[in-house]
Amino acid sequence: MADSAFESRIEQALEDETLRRNFASALGAFAARRRSVFPDGRALERLRTQAAAIRDRALARLPELLEELESRLTANGIRVHWAETAAVGCRLVLEILEAHGVRRVVKGKSMVSEEMHLNAFLARHGIETVETDLGEFIIQLAGETPAHIIVPAVHKNRAQIARLFQEKIAGAPYTEEVTELNAIARRTLRERFREAGAGLSGVNFAVAETGTLCLVENEGNGRMCTGVPPLHIAVMGIEKVIERLEDLPPLLRLLTGSATGQRVTTYVNLISGPRRNADPDGPREVHLVLLDNGRSAVYADPELRATLRCIRCGCCLNHCPVYARIGGHAYGTTYPGPIGKVLTPQLLGIDRAGELPFASTLCGACEEVCPVRIPLAHLLRRLRAEAVRSPASRGDRRGSGRPDRLERLAWWAWGQAVQRPSIYRAILAGGRWLGGLLPPVGPLERWMRTHAEPRFSRRNLRRILRRQGIPDA
Ligand code: SF4
Repeated sequence: MADSAFESRIEQALEDETLRRNFASALGAFAARRRSVFPDGRALERLRTQAAAIRDRALARLPELLEELESRLTANGIRVHWAETAAVGCRLVLEILEAHGVRRVVKGKSMVSEEMHLNAFLARHGIETVETDLGEFIIQLAGETPAHIIVPAVHKNRAQIARLFQEKIAGAPYTEEVTELNAIARRTLRERFREAGAGLSGVNFAVAETGTLCLVENEGNGRMCTGVPPLHIAVMGIEKVIERLEDLPPLLRLLTGSATGQRVTTYVNLISGPRRNADPDGPREVHLVLLDNGRSAVYADPELRATLRCIRCGCCLNHCPVYARIGGHAYGTTYPGPIGKVLTPQLLGIDRAGELPFASTLCGACEEVCPVRIPLAHLLRRLRAEAVRSPASRGDRRGSGRPDRLERLAWWAWGQAVQRPSIYRAILAGGRWLGGLLPPVGPLERWMRTHAEPRFSRRNLRRILRRQGIPDA
């Protein structure tokens, strides 16, 4: 039986074979496409180094860049609001909508708005929000949250989407044809764009030098949300600011290539103000809500600050063996996968999310592909150490705390053994005989439910090395 809600969600996900198949096929395709758009390994490494430097440079000057951004945006006619918490951010968005008498909103994809639980908040205040990104539209119909930060409905296959459309959209026939499914969504959403009093969007990057909001998307829905309604409200985490316009191209190249394996994204929207008198269309007002929600605390820690380099490409999710097996919902938080395991405990507190960093094999696959070189495995180890030290975290959540005492004892014994070669060798020799005979009882029972028994090789590495003339360390 699972010991925590997280573990129970993991067990459920592991038992769902369709879910695992859907994830395996989608993530495999993303990884293959990424390899094909970056065929030159050395060029990719140079680009990653450049992108990491761009993000670090911006973070090093974050407070002053945010002020510069605010003053440029204001000069461009964009109204800037600061939200220390998600609750304040929701309240600000509501106030702007109420001031304009808006009851219907169309929304582009935005993970920050998911972090704020903005849709649910607006619904409680009588404002209807319609997701217009196809993946977000699908999960909104299903009453779910995103399973991936770039591909929210990655966990659903065509047949599941076909059934959902038939069930939830009036007059929609059952079809598994992608073009027909797209056409159904398009017809449904087209009217919503026309009716909406405001459009909500996220922001991929904000350029301090020019006061420009950059929004990347593939479907044109982001452009419709930000261009058709008379009011546009963008929400953005404070870390998304960059210094200069010339910093954008390398980041965009890596973002789209790492996320979906595209050489270039379909739409890059650069928003630098509301409609001017001579403009034929566009919103009459543009607002930006800058959300902190714990990011300042992350920023204050010189080691953890690297987390804020993240450009939310989702590439670490696509390459994570744990995420590929348990999917996004098992994490139970807005941001799943490796970046979620690093970011969430920092935003919510180690006491509330201290279990997450342990859901990792520390294989380092995430770190190897991260386009901005975030040392994810290192940060996971750092957060694990904090979680172990936190009284409200791992041990106590498991009830008696006994497994953690045993675990500590086991690590202590291992530490003693590896410092004494003769004892270590004796244990290995014993392991060769006992390896296949471990009884599934006591603390081993739980471990053996998900792991195969170790089989020790009959061949001895030391002897092989000695035969090859390599001396003992
Ligand atoms: S941590 Fe790196 S790989 Fe993961 S989403 Fe952020 S930028 Fe992408």
